[in-house]
Amino acid sequence: MPELPEVETVCRGIRPHLQGRVFTGVTVRQPQLRWPVPDDLAQRLAGQRVLAVSRRAKYVLISLAEGCLMVHLGMSGRLFFVAAGTAVGKHDHVDFALDNGQLLRYTDPRRFGAVLWLEGEAEAHPLLGHLGPEPLSADFNVAYLLARAKGRSVPVKSLLMDGRVVVGVGNIYANEALYMAGIRPDRAAGKISRQRYARLVDCVKQVLTSAIAQGGTTLKDFVGGDGRPGYFKQELLVYGRAGLPCPACGSALREIRQAQRSTVFCARCQR
Ligand code: ZN
Repeated sequence: MPELPEVETVCRGIRPHLQGRVFTGVTVRQPQLRWPVPDDLAQRLAGQRVLAVSRRAKYVLISLAEGCLMVHLGMSGRLFFVAAGTAVGKHDHVDFALDNGQLLRYTDPRRFGAVLWLEGEAEAHPLLGHLGPEPLSADFNVAYLLARAKGRSVPVKSLLMDGRVVVGVGNIYANEALYMAGIRPDRAAGKISRQRYARLVDCVKQVLTSAIAQGGTTLKDFVGGDGRPGYFKQELLVYGRAGLPCPACGSALREIRQAQRSTVFCARCQR
């Protein structure tokens, strides 16, 4: 499943080829994604120039003069460029034609993704309005996190994965950051010191920044060739390594379930 670093990589991959281009048409082969693709999308987009390509949480935002095309990759969605006339595969649900003869293609085998149209300011949209700050922004800092944790008895891992608190810290990155910070994932959020939260904020930023840097190596996959960018394999310290030795102390990593998700941690290093 694409996580924040992958969505950021998608944005960086498509931005230089999309910014300044004009949409000339849209072909929707399968409108039934997580939410239906709007019927009038072609009319909305035709003739409009792309002003900017950005990301908010795990949404790709393609801004035009009169609104914004919003794409969510769901579990298995991909966005990439192909030349007009390129053969269409079973899961190639939407093509956005551009004035340079290229198509921006949306493909999604599991169809949990979304292609939506937003009028007006993107930040005001119900899907975006309630979201917490971006984890790599200055707004995500120790004072902020401490205030959000105050008096809360929820496990710190749940706090970190709550999009109203901070966006884009998925299960993998929550596991990794808590391990790096030496904090037990099931510790009550309200019972962690300022100093330890300062460390956790740093670790969240570090783990996401290094994942984005790794994604940079896949940027060339967004254009040309066989054109289907994959999601990158990352080197992880604890996630997916239950039962294996802790990289720091060598004791076996433990696994518990929290909110139906796998949590892996070192009972010796994380307190
Ligand atoms: Zn350990």
